[in-house]
Amino acid sequence: MVIVFKKDATPEEIRAVEDKIRSLGYTPHEIVGIERKIVGAVGDERFKEQLQALETMAGVETTISILKPYKLASREFKREDTVVPVDGIPVGGKRITLIAGPCSVESKEQICATAQLVKDAGADFLRGGAFKPRSSPYSFQGLEEEGLKLLAEAKRQTGLPIVTEVMNPREVELVARYADVLQVGARNVQNFSLLKELGNVHKPILLKRGMMITIKEYLMSAEYVLSAGNKKIILCERGIRTIETMTRNTLDINAIPVLKKESHLPVLVDPSHATGHWDLVAAMSCASIAAGADGLMIEVHPDPANALSDGPQSLKPKKFAALVEQLKPLAALMGKSL
Ligand code: PEP
Ligand code: MN
Repeated sequence: MVIVFKKDATPEEIRAVEDKIRSLGYTPHEIVGIERKIVGAVGDERFKEQLQALETMAGVETTISILKPYKLASREFKREDTVVPVDGIPVGGKRITLIAGPCSVESKEQICATAQLVKDAGADFLRGGAFKPRSSPYSFQGLEEEGLKLLAEAKRQTGLPIVTEVMNPREVELVARYADVLQVGARNVQNFSLLKELGNVHKPILLKRGMMITIKEYLMSAEYVLSAGNKKIILCERGIRTIETMTRNTLDINAIPVLKKESHLPVLVDPSHATGHWDLVAAMSCASIAAGADGLMIEVHPDPANALSDGPQSLKPKKFAALVEQLKPLAALMGKSL
């Protein structure tokens, strides 16, 4: 339920409504919009009739029932695009965000050299996995805390904020100590214990779409984090499983405008995991920006042939720099800056 206040509602009237929401066993979520003052009441669906009574309270203009299964993530709840600020960098809105770096953190030299090169090319964030969700238990699993320390060193040298994955509720606190943005990978997008835990974190969450989940289910996962209290969510389409085998996944370009229509959250695209081939990354990056994406997450490695993970889909730093140049006029065409 969304409670829309009159333009001249007083802070006391708003507080009284919020207290009432709490007394009914719901949690109030305030939205500071430019157009309207809004409070969302979310909680157990079974008792929603009781919320109707709020319509008669002082200062309330109207109440709107959100029929979609995702509430806080929906456009109905918040009409304006959400911009998630990270270390002073706004993600969403009129800017294209670029996150770049290797699939995995491998060594100090590798991560620091890559960080400097992607920064010089125009990246806003450094990515790199320290905890890696590998399909095989015999594949490189990541450097874990040592990897986080190397990311911190790369940040110290370049100033680039860090995006890195957290796989386990037990490691949230550790990863949050080093990361500026905590990534939830495709395989964990429906790990509801992890999502609930991330609701208590004060840092932004980059929530990747699962390879086998619908857009509706994806937004429900975002709802888990939002309803648990963390409003700083960045979505990321990274390709889904289809009948096609020529590419690692199929980039669901449809998902970009659908997510923008259904939700106010920023939407990034990862063309590296979506295609699995470095030579397809530029085309799908352009397609993503043209479809309205708010940014890209791209794997870049100084020596892809010897990468410990995802070498075949990683761009060399020079190719990444060329891609950024290619994207600039496209971003401008979309009314955005890069
Ligand atoms: C990654 O970004 O390194 C990754 C493992 O991606 P995904 O979870 O989308 O497969
Ligand atoms: Mn990868």
